[in-house]
Amino acid sequence: MNFIDNHCHLSDERIFDRAETLVKEATEAKVTRFALAGVEPAEWKRQVELKAKFGDSLILNFGLHPWWVEKYSASEIKEILQILDQEIVHANGVGETGLDFYEKRDPSRFDDQREAFRAQIHIAKRHKKPLILHIVQAHEECVKILKEEKAEELKLVLHSYSGNVTQLQEYLKLGAYVSYSGSLVKAARGEGHEKTAKALLNTPINRVLFETDSPDQGWDSGENAPKRVLEVYEAALVLMELPLASGMGAMADVVTKTFNHIYAK
Ligand SMILES: [Zn+2]
Repeated sequence: MNFIDNHCHLSDERIFDRAETLVKEATEAKVTRFALAGVEPAEWKRQVELKAKFGDSLILNFGLHPWWVEKYSASEIKEILQILDQEIVHANGVGETGLDFYEKRDPSRFDDQREAFRAQIHIAKRHKKPLILHIVQAHEECVKILKEEKAEELKLVLHSYSGNVTQLQEYLKLGAYVSYSGSLVKAARGEGHEKTAKALLNTPINRVLFETDSPDQGWDSGENAPKRVLEVYEAALVLMELPLASGMGAMADVVTKTFNHIYAK
């Protein structure tokens, strides 16, 4: 049985130099495949460097992350999206992209977020690639845009899902896959995140994926790392009230099948 970290940032500047160690430690723990999430052009280049080292264990996704939209001017964003349209042939999927209307974000750039999101949906459709979604406090609007853009023809992957069950149903109607992160670990420990636990229990098993989002989104004092996706798998089984001993292998197999389907050429 092998496990997958469906969303991590080995190409993040903070850990890029240690990627070899992190992949080795993960592989020893039977976490053998990793989907990288793209944030901006310099980072896509680091993904390509990692791919040269780690080959098929890595899935590459290039995108302009909503937080990075804030770093660039409108004309720079336009240019980046043109580059993305060319570079995307070197990646397996588009993203992470989407909408983040969390209170710390800059509302004056929300329109730029919306535009960059729509443009990346178009790129995914043009190149027939899966679309990796980062959506925070913007689920209704995201669903609206996905419908307007007829994005249901794409394989949609919601990263670190944080919405409620009603919103989840809307995504599921569009055929979306739902990736759950360390908030499940907290939920299984009784440390809040009931909403996410409920969403998990309402997601068909063949639409479920797990991720760390490392090096971010750690759930305790230890550093978040791809190998720790095992804890997210375990937490899901606990929340589903399934036995760990036999459940881990079965869960690993279902998730692997789903992951292979999403990134099938
Ligand atoms: Zn991410």
